[in-house]
Amino acid sequence: MGRLDGKVALISGGARGQGGAEVRLFTREGARVIFGDVLDDQGRELEAEVRAAGGDARYVHLDVTNESDWEEAVGTAVQLYDRLDILVNNAGIVRRYSIEETPREVWDEVMAVNSTGVFLGTKHAIPVMRRSGGGSIVNISSISGMIAIGAPAYNASKGAVRVFTKVTAVEHAKDNIRCNSIHPGPIDTPMIREGHADPEAAEQQRLSLVPLGRLGTVEDIAYGVLYLASDEAAFVTGSELVIDGGFIAQ
Ligand code: NAD
Repeated sequence: MGRLDGKVALISGGARGQGGAEVRLFTREGARVIFGDVLDDQGRELEAEVRAAGGDARYVHLDVTNESDWEEAVGTAVQLYDRLDILVNNAGIVRRYSIEETPREVWDEVMAVNSTGVFLGTKHAIPVMRRSGGGSIVNISSISGMIAIGAPAYNASKGAVRVFTKVTAVEHAKDNIRCNSIHPGPIDTPMIREGHADPEAAEQQRLSLVPLGRLGTVEDIAYGVLYLASDEAAFVTGSELVIDGGFIAQ
């Protein structure tokens, strides 16, 4: 028996990285998964891979900053399964500038994807979840949403997700919709190397700050998302799950 048997999930930013791992794990655990991204080729490849392995996954083009893309993605869940039980707001970008060097357009871009994208997904998922009898929303924030780690727009956008999660949890508890945030530390995905002049040195510097002495894997995060998405977490809402190898415990 799978931990997500009978559930329908929508995952943003699912073509690669952590989102890709969640697509694979969720389908292995019995969920029917719709996942979206702006990387259409990678998304379609992953859909084919999951289907070949016997999983039920459907890729849709989803730019999380585009409200009508969200309407279509949620509409796909309704059309195919007439329900939605799980939303994972995973899509994200990082831009590494100091406050003084951050162009206004970059600030707006990071906020649009990382914060507004979460709001739009939540807004459009809630009515369908309510009709389905409830649901679980898992927002991927970051330890950068809790402490300053040198990417100001990213930090602010992830901090917004942290508090928006609690607002969602409180406002929609009456609908049996739970909402929690996950706060990954440095995870071994393309993002961790993006925007660094010397990616190798940046990785070593991050590693030196992780008590467990390694980068996190995409599975380390996916299993946390799975727990919060599943009925095992039925009494968990408005909470923060830090998965960071001990980074912020120091
Ligand atoms: P990643 O870059 O591999 O994955 C991010 C995904 O989001 C990509 O598939 C990308 O195409 C997609 N995306 C970007 N803009 C989008 C948009 N406008 N619409 C839809 N999809 C879009 O990196 P990842 O590590 O897998 O990141 C997943 C989440 O984890 C992000 O929210 C990220 O901020 C967060 N996170 C990552 C780390 C890390 O160290 N890698 C740490 C903490 C938090």
